[in-house]
Amino acid sequence: MDIGLDDKAKAWRDAAAKFATEELIPWETEAELNEGKLPPEVKARHKKLAIELGFSAMDVPTAHGGRDARVLEQVAVWEQLGRVTNALCWCFSEPHRWMFEACTPEQLERYVLPLISGKRKECYAITESGSGSDVESIQTSARRASGGYRISGEKWYVTSANHADYFILQARLAEGPHAGSHSLFFIEKSEPGIELVRTPPFSHTFSDHHPIYRFNDVAVRENQRLGQEGDGMRYAHSWFRRERLMIAARCCGAAARLIEEATQFAGQRMIGGEPLIERQMVQAMLADSVTELWAARLITYEAAGAHDRGEDLKSLHARCAIAKLYASEAANRIVDRVLQIFGGRGYMRENCVERFFRELRVDRIWEGASEVQRLIIARALIKRGLEGM
Ligand SMILES: Cc1cc2nc3c(=O)[nH]c(=O)nc-3n(C[C@H](O)[C@H](O)[C@H](O)COP(=O)(O)OP(=O)(O)OC[C@H]3O[C@@H](n4cnc5c(N)ncnc54)[C@H](O)[C@@H]3O)c2cc1C
Repeated sequence: MDIGLDDKAKAWRDAAAKFATEELIPWETEAELNEGKLPPEVKARHKKLAIELGFSAMDVPTAHGGRDARVLEQVAVWEQLGRVTNALCWCFSEPHRWMFEACTPEQLERYVLPLISGKRKECYAITESGSGSDVESIQTSARRASGGYRISGEKWYVTSANHADYFILQARLAEGPHAGSHSLFFIEKSEPGIELVRTPPFSHTFSDHHPIYRFNDVAVRENQRLGQEGDGMRYAHSWFRRERLMIAARCCGAAARLIEEATQFAGQRMIGGEPLIERQMVQAMLADSVTELWAARLITYEAAGAHDRGEDLKSLHARCAIAKLYASEAANRIVDRVLQIFGGRGYMRENCVERFFRELRVDRIWEGASEVQRLIIARALIKRGLEGM
């Protein structure tokens, strides 16, 4: 399935494919059976290799020591990393390009650049009990205090907070000219007033947890705010766009591996004296899956290309929503079919199909549920018509 990548994008893709196949995939079952955890020396090796391969610097401008990779190249990497279960590919942190617009030189030095070398790790705290899909309605407040703000509120599902050094937290400004609008803040995890409420278990088996944190009147200085007062939603949208596109890429990678696994299995599994793959009902399931994977890849790579061509931001926003919606829904249909082809073997936790069956489900929920992506697409259509998307 050649999507017509140029040599540079192929080099990124091949490096990620080799890393996923040779270094990460062999550890999946061990992670699954040990609450997502790997031996520390293996974890350290994965992190070191990912950093050496340049994955943590892909979206970083060269002026800041980064690789300045095109979005297309980043999609090619994340597609390959999506072939891996148990979030073993989350072995590195990645600064995003928008951070270099949002942050002061001091913030880049303290919070952002150390992500590249793996010296520090971040986590994002946006969602709350009362506001998930409706991000605008968050209640966590940033109240003006001498030299900065006081942050109060509770954040849910803070992915990787158990491994992170600091939060990027989204809060509503309580007063001043921008009252009611949002800002993002860097907050060290060790600050007084930060309380771990609980760590709920989830369907997947990841070493990165999604805990709930309470912020009890936490003091932050003015220089911990990203950008100007009221810039929060703008930067959150930049974050959403990139994550949605990379979720689409990972879903394509997962779907490709699932189809390969099912084709190989059905070619060997004998039923009624012939290989399962000779059954036309099985062939139909594989054919539908391949067709949907092709569509998902074309949508995703074309959206990445649109970023690299510098197309209109509003159009890109809708294109990322289309890519995430289609690829995540397709990957969920594909894993369901593939599990069916595997029969009971597909229901065993030692089989990647079973793990993907649980892990892919959240791609229809996080970074905006499928219904929210549909709303974004419909609003873009209503406002700007098909030509404006
Ligand atoms: C494992 C996991 C990790 C996460 N990590 C993070 C993280 O690191 N940081 C962070 O800030 N958040 C994180 N989230 C939160 C995630 O982004 C939210 O779960 C998501 O935005 C949906 O919000 P919600 O769960 O509150 O669902 P709700 O907002 O309660 O929505 C429930 C359902 O209602 C439907 N729905 C919602 N709005 C509409 C609408 N307008 N029209 C029609 N139907 C609608 C959708 O089907 C949706 O699934 C994580 C969530 C999970 C499950």
